[in-house]
Amino acid sequence: MDFKKSQKLYNKGLENLVGAVNSPVRAFASVGGNPLFIKKAKGSRIVDVDGNKYVDLVLSYGPMIIGHRHKKVQRAVNKALKNGYSFGASTENEIKLAKIVCNAFPGMDKVRFVNSGTEAVLSGIRLARAFTGKNKIIKFSGCYHGHQDALLVAAGSGLATLSLPGSKGVPEGAVKNTLIATYNDLESVKKHFENDDDIAGVIIEPVGGNMGVVIPQNDFLKELKEYLHSKGALLIADEVMTGFRSKFGGAQELLGVEADITCLGKVIGGGFPVGAYGARNEIMEMVAPLGGMYQAGTLSGNPIAMAGGISTLTELKNQNPYEQFNEVGQQIETILLEAAKKHGVEITVNRFGSMLNPFFTSTQVTNFEEAQTSDTKKFAVFFWEMIKNGVFLPPSQFEAWFLSSAITEEDIEVIRKAVDKAMNKVA
Ligand code: PLP
Repeated sequence: MDFKKSQKLYNKGLENLVGAVNSPVRAFASVGGNPLFIKKAKGSRIVDVDGNKYVDLVLSYGPMIIGHRHKKVQRAVNKALKNGYSFGASTENEIKLAKIVCNAFPGMDKVRFVNSGTEAVLSGIRLARAFTGKNKIIKFSGCYHGHQDALLVAAGSGLATLSLPGSKGVPEGAVKNTLIATYNDLESVKKHFENDDDIAGVIIEPVGGNMGVVIPQNDFLKELKEYLHSKGALLIADEVMTGFRSKFGGAQELLGVEADITCLGKVIGGGFPVGAYGARNEIMEMVAPLGGMYQAGTLSGNPIAMAGGISTLTELKNQNPYEQFNEVGQQIETILLEAAKKHGVEITVNRFGSMLNPFFTSTQVTNFEEAQTSDTKKFAVFFWEMIKNGVFLPPSQFEAWFLSSAITEEDIEVIRKAVDKAMNKVA
C-alpha cells in the first residue's frame, strides 16, 4: 500500500489550504504522517486517490449512517437538483423533514433548520438565554459543540487532539458566561448554582463522542434534568452526533430523558450540510419571526440538503438498524478486547450502540480526565496499522468510530484481521 498520490495532493494543498485541510480533525496531526485524500466511497467502503480501499469507520464523522451513496438518497437528490438549488423562499420539503424530526423527538414541537451543527448549538444556547432571561451556560469538559466562541473552552474533538485548552482569537468576554463541569458528576454542576442565579442551562452531549466515546452513568441525565428544572434552568441536548444514530429518537429516546432544547446535525442531512434546533412550542415561540430571538440563514433549509435528509431518514426508519448496530458494535468490541488480551495490550473499550472506540488505558473512562489517561502514542501506532490493513479510522484518540447499516460480514473480517495486526504492533 502506498500513498504517493495523497502525498502529492497534500503538498499541492498546502499552497492554498491551511494544513491542506478544511477542518483540523482531518489533519493527521496527532498520529504523524499526512492526511489521505479520498476519491470516492460506496456503501461501507471508502477509496483514496491511490486506489487503496478501506472499511470506513469515519463515515464523514457520523452522517453516512446508511452507508455512502445509497441509491435512494442519490435518486432523491438528483430529482431535487433538477428543480434548482436554492430559492431564498420556503419549499415543501422543509415541512416534510420538520415533520419527520418532530415526530422522532417528542420534546420538539417545532424545529428550525440551519446549515451545520455549530449553528444549531449556537442558536440553541441563544434560545435558552432568550427563554430564561439568564446568561450563563454550563458545558462539560471534553464535550465539543462546534466552533462558536462561547463553547471553545475545555472542548473535545480537534482541540483535544491538538491539546488546545481553548482557541486563540476568542475574546475573554465571549467565554465569561461559560462555566465548566465534569461529565458524569452532578456535584460539579450543582457547585456552579450555589452562588449564581444567572445560569440559563446546561449543554451536554447525551453520549460523549468528542473525547472518544463516554457514556452517561446510571441516571446522570435524568438527575441532571431534574436538578436543572428545580433551578429554573434548561437541559440543552447536543444530539448533533447521537440524533437518529443512538435510536431514531436519539440518545434521548434510548435513555428516556426529554431535553428542553435539542440540537441536531450530521445524520439529518445524510451527508449534506444541515443542522437543526428545536423545542416545545412555548420555547420556540421566542424565535423570529414569532419572537424576538433572531436567527437566520441564506441557505437554511437548502432544497438539496432537505432531499438528502428526508431520503436518509426515511430509509433509516425503514431499515431500523439499531439492533444490528448493537450486534455489530458488540462484535467489534469483542474483537478489540480479545486481540488486546492476546497481545498483552491494556485497553478500555467504550461503546454506545453504533459509536465506539478503544482507549489505551487500564482505567475506566467516564469523563475527559480519564480519557486523557489513554496512551496516544499507542493509538498512533494502532491507527497506522489499521490503515495499512484496510480500515479507515478517525486520526485521533479523541474521536468516536461510527458504524453504518451498510457494514457486511466481510467488513467485520477485515476489521478482525486488522485489529489483530494492529494490537500486535502496539504490544
Ligand atoms: N456538536 C457535536 C456533538 C458535534 O460532534 C459536532 C461536530 O462534530 C458539532 C456540534 C458541530 O457540528 P458541525 O461540525 O456540523 O458544525
